[in-house]
Amino acid sequence: MQTLSSYVLGRWIQGQQNPATLYNPTTEAPVATVGSGGFDAKAVLAYGRDTGGPALRALSFAQRGKLLASMSAAIHEKRDELIGLALENGGNTRGDAKFDVDGATGTLMFYAGLAEKLGNRPFLVDGDGIQLGRTARFWGQHVHVTRPGVAVHVNAFNFPAWGMMEKMACAILAGMPVIEKPGTPTALVAWRIAQLIVEKGGLPAGAYQFVAGSLGDMLDHMGPQDVLAFTGSSATGAKLRGNANLVKHNVRVNVEADSLNAAVLAPDVDASSDTYGLFLSNVALDTTQKTGQKCTAVRRVLVPATRVKDVVTDLVAQLSRTKVGDPSDNAVRMGPLASKSQFDEVRAGIDRLAKHGTIATGGTQKIADKGYFVAPTVIVAKDANDPAFHAEEVFGPCVVVLPYSGDANEAARIVNLGGGGLVCSVYGNDAEWTDAFVLTAAPWHGRIWVGSDKMAEQSLPPGMVLPMMIHGGPGRAGGGDELGGERGLHFYMQRTALQGFKGTIEASFGHAPTASTTT
Ligand code: NAP
Repeated sequence: MQTLSSYVLGRWIQGQQNPATLYNPTTEAPVATVGSGGFDAKAVLAYGRDTGGPALRALSFAQRGKLLASMSAAIHEKRDELIGLALENGGNTRGDAKFDVDGATGTLMFYAGLAEKLGNRPFLVDGDGIQLGRTARFWGQHVHVTRPGVAVHVNAFNFPAWGMMEKMACAILAGMPVIEKPGTPTALVAWRIAQLIVEKGGLPAGAYQFVAGSLGDMLDHMGPQDVLAFTGSSATGAKLRGNANLVKHNVRVNVEADSLNAAVLAPDVDASSDTYGLFLSNVALDTTQKTGQKCTAVRRVLVPATRVKDVVTDLVAQLSRTKVGDPSDNAVRMGPLASKSQFDEVRAGIDRLAKHGTIATGGTQKIADKGYFVAPTVIVAKDANDPAFHAEEVFGPCVVVLPYSGDANEAARIVNLGGGGLVCSVYGNDAEWTDAFVLTAAPWHGRIWVGSDKMAEQSLPPGMVLPMMIHGGPGRAGGGDELGGERGLHFYMQRTALQGFKGTIEASFGHAPTASTTT
């Protein structure tokens, strides 16, 4: 059995405190152990700040981009091994594991490509220069400069590869060293990636540290130039954000938390249309992909009341085609939940929601002798306004169908009862209807995905996070955002307003001259 270790202060160490066991969720057999501690958290932060930071800041964006490309190659080279570990320790099907591992390498490559466009200057220009005085002699320009601190990244268990790399790609490209902490139940994949990065990633000393197990008192020693980016549950996010030291020093904190993502079927969508087919396949995909353990997965499905019976019949039929079982079987499309605690929490959550509606398929009955398996579950709500359906994220293969009148504003109002979400998908071909919905739902969401006949053939599903678009959301979703191309770097940089003589400010800090203006 593996014993996971941390890579801190330039060496691998094994923590001895609070040992935890990682399991194979299909067989319930132990696969690894991890202990915490064994390092001085203050020294680990200082090593990143004082050794990794200067080394990264000495590189241009383009040079940092090459590091991202080399990390991507190191991970891709071991793709099959990583997929095997995700199957063993995460209960991932091969498709689920590819989604995570290829998401990691793809995001790194996206930012490696962006790096080439950012130029050789050690800052980013923000918007156009602004005349501040009576004449243009007194001039202003906003810029982003790298923060000379360290980025602590606390990651959730569900995407051990992609989750770590999407944060890291932005930080390293911005020039900030990182300390990565994976979610413990599935840390085997993250730990193997840490080994690959240390061995083959080519990062300068101190730019990458990895803490398996607990961070100890690290947050208590973070300073004003450091940043904390967290992904996980709202409850843990709120706890970390409230850390007295982080509050005292106004340490920048980004929280990516849970979300009751909704899919909304507009009344104009005909059951024979491409849009309806897309709606059904995306809802079924979100319910079963990664066994519903995706922060962007649909939890609530709004359907015009007159069509609930037909839509539920179609959805149940679609879900019945998903083979559930041992993910090492290539025919299986949905494996177990990742851990025993997930299994217990998801079943308890389904039982709680079922009290407020009717189970159309699935439920909490045992479907295997061993392993943390739960059947894909559809619950039909009695009342779409019942707070029970807008309060709790059941982080597993469960969706609730909520009947509504067919009115766009009513649909948006019900969706917004979720208190802020990562992504809301709406399916409709009537632009007036979808526009009205979007404008009411958008303030409560980081992303709105509009499905229609015109894009059905080319669309990527709403649960897929794309590095060129922001990811995050207001309210219970954490109030943060990540990715979004160059925007993802800004969290790791200070935006500063420069004011002075136009000739100097513009020459040194304005937009770089383009090829056409230099010739
Ligand atoms: P979690 O229990 O909140 O844990 C998240 C991370 O926080 C883990 O690394 C955990 O470490 C760590 N942690 C817990 N308590 C801590 C403390 N006191 N100090 C420092 N770190 C602490 O969430 P999870 O079960 O891993 O992930 C599932 C949740 O994440 C779901 O709610 C899902 O919606 C959300 N999620 C959101 C996004 C997004 O982008 N918005 C993406 C993925 C997942 P240990 O594992 O060692 O306890």
